[in-house]
Amino acid sequence: MIKWKEEGFLPVEKAEKEGDYVCPICHKVLHLEAGQTIPRCCGKPMEPMD
Ligand SMILES: [Zn+2]
Repeated sequence: MIKWKEEGFLPVEKAEKEGDYVCPICHKVLHLEAGQTIPRCCGKPMEPMD
């Protein structure tokens, strides 16, 4: 059985739109262009800011 919860098996998320993305843990903000891979910070993917 493949353990999907392991980090290496998580699908790579791409930014749907250009904008600022924030880490839900440490609140670091990064500006991404549409189509860029969403980086991980503190073990979690960064989230789009609204
Ligand atoms: Zn962080």
